[in-house]
Amino acid sequence: MQIFDIVIIGAGPAGCSAALSLQHSGLRVGLFEKDQFPRSKICGDGVCDRSINTLRTINPSYVDEFLKTVSSQCISKTALVYKSHMYTLEFSNFGYTCKRYEFDNFLFSLVQRDCKNVEVFQQNPITRIESSGNGYLLANQSGDVYSASLILIANGAKSTIAQFVTGNVFSKANYGVAIRAYYSGVKGMHADTIELHYKKEYFPGYLWVFPLADGTANVGFGYHMQDAEKFSGTIQELMQQWIQSDVHLRERFAHAQIVSSLQGGLIPYNTNTFNCSGNNYMICGDAASLIDPISGGGIGSAMLSGHLAATYAIECCAKHDFSAEATKKYEEHLKKRIQKEIKTRYYIQQKISKHPSVLDILSIIGKNTKLLNRIKRWYVK
Ligand SMILES: Cc1cc2nc3c(=O)[nH]c(=O)nc-3n(C[C@H](O)[C@H](O)[C@H](O)COP(=O)(O)OP(=O)(O)OC[C@H]3O[C@@H](n4cnc5c(N)ncnc54)[C@H](O)[C@@H]3O)c2cc1C
Repeated sequence: MQIFDIVIIGAGPAGCSAALSLQHSGLRVGLFEKDQFPRSKICGDGVCDRSINTLRTINPSYVDEFLKTVSSQCISKTALVYKSHMYTLEFSNFGYTCKRYEFDNFLFSLVQRDCKNVEVFQQNPITRIESSGNGYLLANQSGDVYSASLILIANGAKSTIAQFVTGNVFSKANYGVAIRAYYSGVKGMHADTIELHYKKEYFPGYLWVFPLADGTANVGFGYHMQDAEKFSGTIQELMQQWIQSDVHLRERFAHAQIVSSLQGGLIPYNTNTFNCSGNNYMICGDAASLIDPISGGGIGSAMLSGHLAATYAIECCAKHDFSAEATKKYEEHLKKRIQKEIKTRYYIQQKISKHPSVLDILSIIGKNTKLLNRIKRWYVK
């Protein structure tokens, strides 16, 4: 049996940020990933400024390296489209679009290159965990067993491991579902602008068109999972119907071609609840349901949570204290950083979902530039 101080489960943005933040800790860390990198992750590919800022906090040179080596498109505007009217919000630092295939591989490569204390296991899903009293025993599908004083659970949406340790059960009310595909030949895109198209019936879901550095677009559509039964048609059909029935989109997509498969994934919305720590564990990213309930963005909070979890993990190891009280400090710090915005956004999400006509009022308000700039805050993370 291999013994670690800390085991990180999942090498997405949350897990890699945790590993990178532990690189100078001198601790024995195991990073377990079920896939083999480079691997793709279904996403809109919008990498917001919180992701970049967290990377900068971990190591400022990583941001320079990202900009030099990874194909990314700087985004400074968000266009909100409702009833054929476009409201454009300008940001000084919204972030980038970058294919997750490349972004995640970049983070993972940094871990492999710089984290000498991190043993990386790829194609090695953790399939079973059990408390050992003073930590956790973890097993993979071949039955190999590992032990750790502390586990950082970062294995994405619908994590059965997070459900196991917290006792939380899966609820459609807390999830969105979305699909995306890469398109070439979409007309009328602006390289620095991401587009979010809204319809009352799908809110908080939307259809997005995100321009990528290579001239293609990441196009996707999603909605609240509990609304699915209201719609007639599959999510793929609804997305195509939207594009074909909207006079502007139809024209813009007239010669567009799908250049990838159309794939879907889950969006665990944060419902203003934080349940991400306990005896010998901390939960990060989608596994802790940290996704913004309005924008659907989760990479930034995943990276921030991974970084904060690592910071408190070092403290726990130094004090040999892995109790729920000790790991709670991570949860409290994370709450301090993001609860205020989540609370507001979740409130807005709930109100508009119940009274979608609010979107009509907002669209009138949105014609006032000053007020429109206030709405901007909903989209910056
Ligand atoms: C369609 C769609 C569009 C989205 N668009 C955006 C967007 O534009 N911008 C944005 O910020 N967010 C977006 N998101 C959300 C974003 O993808 C997530 O918030 C983000 O990936 C969370 O990172 P993570 O590290 O927590 O989880 P993940 O990125 O899911 O990484 C988890 C990792 O754990 C691995 N794993 C899983 N199970 C195990 C196991 N048992 N053992 C070992 N490894 C395991 C997985 O293979 C994976 O590599 C979107 C999500 C969807 C579904």
